[in-house]
Amino acid sequence: MIYLDNAATTPVCRPAMDAALRVMSQGWGNPSSGYPYGKAAAREREEGRAVIAAALGCEPEELFFTSCGTEGDNWAIMAAVELGKKHGRHIVTSAIEHSAVLECMKLLQSQGFEVTYLKPDREGNIDAQAIRDAVRDDTILVSLMLVNNEVGSILPVSAAKEAILERKAPALVHVDAVQGFLKLPFTPQSLGADFVAISGHKVEGPKGIGALYIRRALLPKVKPLMVGGGQESGLRPGTEATHQIAAFAAAVKAWEPGFAEKIRQVKDYAADTLSAIDGVELISRGSAPHILAISLPAFSGQSVVEALGSQGVCVSSGSACHRGKPSHVFQAMPLPQKVKYGAVRVSFGPQSTKEDVDELSRLLRHICEKKSLLF
Ligand code: PLP
Repeated sequence: MIYLDNAATTPVCRPAMDAALRVMSQGWGNPSSGYPYGKAAAREREEGRAVIAAALGCEPEELFFTSCGTEGDNWAIMAAVELGKKHGRHIVTSAIEHSAVLECMKLLQSQGFEVTYLKPDREGNIDAQAIRDAVRDDTILVSLMLVNNEVGSILPVSAAKEAILERKAPALVHVDAVQGFLKLPFTPQSLGADFVAISGHKVEGPKGIGALYIRRALLPKVKPLMVGGGQESGLRPGTEATHQIAAFAAAVKAWEPGFAEKIRQVKDYAADTLSAIDGVELISRGSAPHILAISLPAFSGQSVVEALGSQGVCVSSGSACHRGKPSHVFQAMPLPQKVKYGAVRVSFGPQSTKEDVDELSRLLRHICEKKSLLF
């Protein structure tokens, strides 16, 4: 199998597996317990927090473990709205956010909040000026992704803070950095973010673990998403998933500084190779290192994905969360209908090679030359 769908999830790296097994077999105590088993588990949790906080560029006290990126996005948005609702009811986001954000927006609209959805250009880019222009005196939240998960565009999220300061708007900034973490150099501060959500399974950690950065000054005021025990400083109840935390931290530690560049080289090679095939269009090279969007306008993206899968190559026709449905991201982009229909996402990880791309290229050439999805 050739795996080229790293934006959906990544294979779990060996150090993450070893860390999970170590904690499950030896460090399985409840971190809230006062005896040595518990203290050892709490130590694992805090060591993990320190590693991930350092990689994100925040203080460990500002990082809270969640069950996934979706939870971090939900929590940040609901907490920001709770804090801001006495100042206004306007929210800015983009039409190409992950459904973890868009579904929150729908819910908030049903409760009377007004949401401005910024539109992408034909490559999935959102204009910095459009972000600045959208911020109003009554804006209470700007929620934007750092990297789009389907086209790989990098959103100029720091424009939000500039506009907020300029307008003296009461808005907080939430950044969904699930696809940007470790792939791009940034810190919450460099983004002007009050909240940053990340997820373990996009960086060779396990599924079921994520983290949310919350700016220190907000901590006394932020409300939890759930109620329960006093874990995570009373902000995220539930016994901490210590094996998942240790595995996430191990994956972060194992992520080498050169990975992003290595991944980008394979992606650039793919962009050149695949766009040279008659019948394949490049939708976007994506500015992020790992995501490339192409289209075979003569076919449906989903059928191409299935045909490639039958030959052992895994790609996707958009976000894995939208299987079978047309992607809202491509729908929002001003592209010819056929190009949207035939959209395919190819996404790379540290294990991806140019040989993987050559095999994908051979199969796509076959499809385009034979005008058939049968091999
Ligand atoms: N945000 C973005 C941009 C994503 O790509 C994803 C996952 O695909 C998520 C949020 C949700 O993360 P998780 O799968 O950890 O809930």
